[in-house]
Amino acid sequence: MSEPQAVPQTLMEAIRYFSDPLTCIQLFARLRWTNGQAECPRCQAKHVSFLSTRLLWKCLDCKKQFSIKVGTIFEDSAIGLDKWMCAMFLIANCKNGASSYEIARDIKVTQKSAWFMLHRIRDAMRTGTFAKLSGEVEVDETFIGGKARNMHKAKREAKITGTGGADKEIVFGMVERGGKVVTGHVPARTKKDLQPIIKERIEAGSAIFSDALKSYDGLANEYRHAVIDHAVEYANGNVHTNAMENFWSLLKRGLHGTYISVEPFHLFRYLDEQTLRYNERHITDADRFVQLCSNVVGRRLTWNQLTGKNDVGRDSGADSAADSL
Ligand SMILES: [Zn+2]
Repeated sequence: MSEPQAVPQTLMEAIRYFSDPLTCIQLFARLRWTNGQAECPRCQAKHVSFLSTRLLWKCLDCKKQFSIKVGTIFEDSAIGLDKWMCAMFLIANCKNGASSYEIARDIKVTQKSAWFMLHRIRDAMRTGTFAKLSGEVEVDETFIGGKARNMHKAKREAKITGTGGADKEIVFGMVERGGKVVTGHVPARTKKDLQPIIKERIEAGSAIFSDALKSYDGLANEYRHAVIDHAVEYANGNVHTNAMENFWSLLKRGLHGTYISVEPFHLFRYLDEQTLRYNERHITDADRFVQLCSNVVGRRLTWNQLTGKNDVGRDSGADSAADSL
């Protein structure tokens, strides 16, 4: 295969660039395989030939054919790589995310297909664990949406009688000032829920800034802990949680503005999405896109895993997937 051109830098360039299926394949081959050298997914042979009329490879050892999509989040998808690439470019770079309705309109697929694509892309946005946060770290919790009437009765009762924000979901976040954020959907905001996460993800001896929530009491044993009481003031010198507040406002703008409503069991995927964009905010759109592309290999999210349903093919017509996004 010939050398592909550079990675597109803007959405306009991306749309033009990916409109050619061969260019798409060449670029993605370069991103997923070392030196763009295709490898047979069955026998790992590099002794392969590209069938340019079919846009497939043939393994010259085991004689089987394979597509660029095998072993990635695109596997088994009938949607062309051109559309996948444009959707990935959009989602990697739109600050507030992009809804399935917008993606559907932009790349001309059904809303339901776009919804499924977006969730697969979010699966590739899941960040592995990286080094512990250190230095100056802000911790905070926030409540997200939650319409009690959409919840299962038993769950609704448990939520309403439980501690915290009645019918809302709780998200916990920790951000190293000037660095990365770590977020998670937590069942409650008790000491028992929050402190083990803090100890796992923040280097002992770091400075921790939090609000006056009692659940943070006792952190001073392992950390330098400074508290800002939001009932009194928002900042006192460097004692504040402004970086965390900024992240929450980005998250909520995406969730409330772009995504309308989110099922609680999908919430972690939106957190992954916003977290990745935030953590990679210092790099260019093109680099963020490339990084996302390099994450699609070895991940696979099926319709059934996503919806918790059996035997509901993604093209089988009406089901409740469209009820949320
Ligand atoms: Zn083979």
